[in-house]
Amino acid sequence: MKVLVPVKRVVDANVKVRVKTDGSGVDIANVKLSINPFDEIAVEEAVRLKEAGVATEVVAVSGGVAGCQETLRTAMAIGADRGILVETNAELQPLAVAKLLKALVGKEGVELVILGKQAIDDDANQVGQMLAAMLDWPQATFASKITFAQDLVTVVREVDGGLETLELKLPAVISVDLRLNTPRYATLPNIMKAKKKPLQSMTPESLEVDVRPRLATLRMAEPPKRQAGIKVGNAAELVDKLRNEAKVI
Ligand code: AMP
Repeated sequence: MKVLVPVKRVVDANVKVRVKTDGSGVDIANVKLSINPFDEIAVEEAVRLKEAGVATEVVAVSGGVAGCQETLRTAMAIGADRGILVETNAELQPLAVAKLLKALVGKEGVELVILGKQAIDDDANQVGQMLAAMLDWPQATFASKITFAQDLVTVVREVDGGLETLELKLPAVISVDLRLNTPRYATLPNIMKAKKKPLQSMTPESLEVDVRPRLATLRMAEPPKRQAGIKVGNAAELVDKLRNEAKVI
């Protein structure tokens, strides 16, 4: 079973993002960029499937600027066998990413796509669902446990009320949640090995996918600043304030 793992390059989770002064977007100049944390979990899971003899090959794919090669190398240092960069300077919205992935699924003969539940930059949470719909494949989102038995896969997913268990037939799309696994630390030897793994470059045009944005961002704004807290003198004052002043925002 060949597994495709889409990985997005995003502003590192530890960076405090700044909105551009003209409100047109987030300023990413001189900011640390890393693999989307949920995608790291997806790569780890795919590599574990390969180590368990369930997957035959793990292919990482990233859509975006040339710098996404670094993200692919990170995925390969975790254990992905090779990488595909779909290079473009265009803004890639979730629908465009899903179309690119659909084209690659057909080209590569993939049986499982395992990806992050959402990219932490735009928080769209759309690509997996759109891809499953366009492929007409079963999907399980927010996976916290994945078990394989021949061509059936059992997925435990995190839902508001607790855990839901689904059984899907392959081929399928699975998006992963935080508690699925703890990605391994990429060791120096593995980082070195990753540099030698194959990295293929293609373009949206070569995949015959129109990636033109369908949505326009009108404005981006910082969240309102939190007001400073106050110290209360005693418990009675606290209770009084909670009763008479505190409001649900
Ligand atoms: P989203 O729906 O944008 O929140 O993203 C969900 C998942 O889709 C991410 O966790 C990635 O696995 C994948 N994805 C989104 N954008 C890209 C991209 N430009 N390149 C590769 N994978 C992506």
